[in-house]
Amino acid sequence: MIVQPKTRGYICTTAHPVGCAVHVKEQIQYVEKGGLIAGGPKKVLVIGSSTGYGLSSRIVAAFGSNADTVGVFFEKPSEGKRTATAGWYNTYAFEQAARAKGLYAKSLNGDAFLDDMKARVCEVIAKDLGQVDMVVYSLASPRRTHPKTGETFKSTLKPIVGSYTNKSFDFDKSEVIEVSLEQAVSAEVEHTIAVMGGEDWQMWIDLLLEKKLLSPQAVTVAYSYIGPDITQPIYRQGTIGAAKDHLERTAHELDRRMGAIGGRAFVSVNKALVTQASSAIPFISLYIVLLMKVMKEKNIHEGCIEQVTRLFRDRLFNGRALSAVPVDEVGRIRVDDWEMRADVQREVGVMWNAVTTENANQFGGVDSYNKEFLRLFGFGLEGVDYNADVEVDLKMDQC
Ligand code: NAD
Repeated sequence: MIVQPKTRGYICTTAHPVGCAVHVKEQIQYVEKGGLIAGGPKKVLVIGSSTGYGLSSRIVAAFGSNADTVGVFFEKPSEGKRTATAGWYNTYAFEQAARAKGLYAKSLNGDAFLDDMKARVCEVIAKDLGQVDMVVYSLASPRRTHPKTGETFKSTLKPIVGSYTNKSFDFDKSEVIEVSLEQAVSAEVEHTIAVMGGEDWQMWIDLLLEKKLLSPQAVTVAYSYIGPDITQPIYRQGTIGAAKDHLERTAHELDRRMGAIGGRAFVSVNKALVTQASSAIPFISLYIVLLMKVMKEKNIHEGCIEQVTRLFRDRLFNGRALSAVPVDEVGRIRVDDWEMRADVQREVGVMWNAVTTENANQFGGVDSYNKEFLRLFGFGLEGVDYNADVEVDLKMDQC
């Protein structure tokens, strides 16, 4: 089948298997170039492992630290004329590369929020690995069905204090538009916390501890975001921010519980970048357009793989004791340090005030953003013949 991108707003409904494989290979090459991470993890569970930060975490663990990995995700295989989702092809490519290197890699496709998936993962770890020494929690989901009550929660992206109006970017029309979001009602705040807060992470860690599937000095990390003043009302002080506050409080509780095995739990605050999850957030995508431009000009641009590599190499491992991991005043690891640099934020702020539909392309970030977005689905990668007939039905036996 010849596969072309089909985009609708912030969704691309097709994915290119060869392009996704090249995207994964590029990430592997980046990690391998840096050499082995001293004291890195050897058996790693990644929850949300097929795209974005989770995929890069799995790649850094495997190719930067020779780790055996178990990955959990929610993706669709191809069906008839429909391609599989990008995360499916990414995982297929990852598994091939990991096994070629002699590494164990098993992937489970399904709803990580449910007890059944947690039980399946525990079984796989007990049978194949015995224990894991790292758990990365990198889920981004619009909804969650609670495993005990069966209630389904939907997350929203709304301000909590008053309504909010600001600039955003309409990628379909390529226009800077004004978007207004109404204040969330309290049920929306609670639902968003139920989906993107820390309860599910805690359920995973509690179960793994109970079943003795975490090795001594194991570490777990989940990902958070803070961001600049411009996006505070919609992000950190909005419904999603309330969920991230909950996730960060959960990290403190889990850190206490992990103490029983000499382990640690951290939240890592990562930078804003183009992923399937972030492209759906109003205002943030325009901010990322401008941020990319500024960070590229300063030669400090990073994608997921560079961020996670820095997290593993410069923060968590490389001969560092878990008690010496550098954190901020409230205990969070910060790899958003370059995004939050005063000079970067000052320049993004100036551009934010000046950006209009007419000059958005001249700022140069829109094209880069679009290219980056399409790369998530395997399009626009160097060396891929997009007019060639490709096999889209790639089978993964474990899924
Ligand atoms: P993403 O959309 O690229 O990846 C989400 C992953 O979760 C995928 O592997 C997907 O298959 C999996 N998933 C979703 N629902 C699932 C379910 N019910 N069961 C099993 N798997 C499921 O997202 P991302 O941007 O990499 O976000 C990951 C984390 O990083 C989130 O907590 C996000 O808030 C955080 N973060 C993102 C950014 C950013 O700019 N993208 C910045 C800082 C922090």
